[in-house]
Amino acid sequence: MWKSRRRAVLLLGGAATLLIPFLEIRGRSAVRFDLPTLSLHFLGAVVPIDEFHLVLLGTLFLVALILGVTVVFGRLWCGWICPQTVIGEAGEWIASALPRRFRAAGKTAVLLPFAALVSLSLLWYFVPPVEATRNLFRSPVLLGFFLAQWGAIYAMVAIVGTRFCRTVCPYAMLQNVLADRETLSVAYDPARPECLRCDRCTLVCPVGIDIRKGAQRECIACAGCIDACREATSPRGMEPFIAYRGTVLRGKTYLLAGICAAAALVFLAALWSRPDLRFAVQWDGNPGKTGENTYRYSVQNDSDRPVTVSLSVEDPALLLDDPAIAVPSRARVTGRVTVRGGDRMPGEVRFTAAGQGFRLVRKAAFP
Ligand code: SF4
Ligand code: SF4
Repeated sequence: MWKSRRRAVLLLGGAATLLIPFLEIRGRSAVRFDLPTLSLHFLGAVVPIDEFHLVLLGTLFLVALILGVTVVFGRLWCGWICPQTVIGEAGEWIASALPRRFRAAGKTAVLLPFAALVSLSLLWYFVPPVEATRNLFRSPVLLGFFLAQWGAIYAMVAIVGTRFCRTVCPYAMLQNVLADRETLSVAYDPARPECLRCDRCTLVCPVGIDIRKGAQRECIACAGCIDACREATSPRGMEPFIAYRGTVLRGKTYLLAGICAAAALVFLAALWSRPDLRFAVQWDGNPGKTGENTYRYSVQNDSDRPVTVSLSVEDPALLLDDPAIAVPSRARVTGRVTVRGGDRMPGEVRFTAAGQGFRLVRKAAFP
């Protein structure tokens, strides 16, 4: 039965959602957008938000993935993985262990703590899990986000429910544009006229449609009607009239998979080829003395060891401050230096940060 498979996916997905924030690679969170440092932690790398090219490459990969999955698998995401669907279903599943007359109230009782857990786990993707949990009731910001998410998740699942999927969900609209004749979907077989007219398929449908009338955009591909139809037809030795239909392995699938793989490779290559030490410098102002300018520098150390680099400028510019910059492991150090220019100064100053195997050169304007 598809229901058992969907529940297995639900358990795996729930476990992954809760455990991924605790996963570390090279001592860093495997996946987290770290709010305190405004940087993305991904597979052991740290990407500050100001590295637009990496953010752009990651976004391109995600767009390619969403388009590819949607064209090939249709709304499988909606019925099998989307939190909007699976959280509600998990609540129903747990409540189904209760006596029938307590189930409605039981679902509410289950969904409230369930939504709280989901809200807390969402925080873990932005603040380290231990820190977020420990400080939940100490930090008004964390508590505010937690309560707002909790309320929103509960309202979306328990009150709005599948009305969202049927009406305003943007992914559902995207699906309508991208699906083609071969896209996987749940469909009734109109070539078989002997349908038992038991209406089980319509009674179980969470979005309230009759799939026998043909493909409908409201269908979230949950396969509830396939299971219901199988229950009706199998005692008679018949195959269900409803099934997943479409062609997964086809030319377009290979093309989209190739595009996704290429986008992923470009993103990962750009991510992992970044140097461990990054250096930036820009003009900051004029301290008032003739021929002197201040420059603001930033040195980011993404390696696992502390690094000390020495700052220097090319002749005829002269650095007036201590040029040694010590940067602890996985930290950023910023500061200012003053440069005195001679008569022969070009339009820019070349700064070099060098030491412990690193040599980074940056140019900054000399106004
Ligand atoms: S028609 Fe079937 S697959 Fe589609 S939403 Fe209804 S029960 Fe789920
Ligand atoms: S569950 Fe199957 S047999 Fe029953 S009405 Fe629906 S399609 Fe026909």
